[in-house]
Amino acid sequence: MLPGGGDGNARSGEAGRAASAPGPRVAAPLPVANTAAGAQCLSSLGQSGVRFDPLPDQYRAQGCSTLGTVQVHALRGDSGDLGISNIGPVTCPVSAAFAAWARFGVDRAARQIMGSPLAGIQTMGSYACRDVAGTGRRSAHATAAAIDIGGFVLADGRRISVLTGWNGTPQEREFLRTVQRSACRRFNTVLGPDYNAAHHDHLHVEGVTDGNSYCR
Ligand SMILES: [Zn+2]
Repeated sequence: MLPGGGDGNARSGEAGRAASAPGPRVAAPLPVANTAAGAQCLSSLGQSGVRFDPLPDQYRAQGCSTLGTVQVHALRGDSGDLGISNIGPVTCPVSAAFAAWARFGVDRAARQIMGSPLAGIQTMGSYACRDVAGTGRRSAHATAAAIDIGGFVLADGRRISVLTGWNGTPQEREFLRTVQRSACRRFNTVLGPDYNAAHHDHLHVEGVTDGNSYCR
């Protein structure tokens, strides 16, 4: 989380849909599969073994929306499901990048560097209706295109947090820097403890890379 951000899940932010036309009530907005690209993303996410539900599109507060998002329940590693905690709506493309990173970046780095498979990823949230700290610009969290990652749980029970592991044991330091580098090959923006004090306890990953990631 960035300072001053809060956990602003604007669930009450139904502004913009209040003035619906009279007539039969529509149960819910269409889910993300109502576009070809959205349907393709959901299909490939399902084929990757991720367990998730598509979420209805919602415009929330000013500059804040969850369009084309999913709720991920479990990721997939090389040898089974990976847990995921504290995550909310995330756009399908970012969810797909996250799932591929978890398996091919994090799980394999855990085996090679920490000597244990990955069991799960502890996030510090995804959607939040807020600005980038210190600016008047909406954060990527405001459109559910970013995830904050606080730590990793290994199958042997160890937990590697960004907060203590970034300057922790040589193994922990290598593991966290390796998974950050691999995130830079999948996400458009990756920010960690070396970027600024606001990121001392998490990795912020945002968007899908176009080959020119901003990685600090
Ligand atoms: Zn963030």
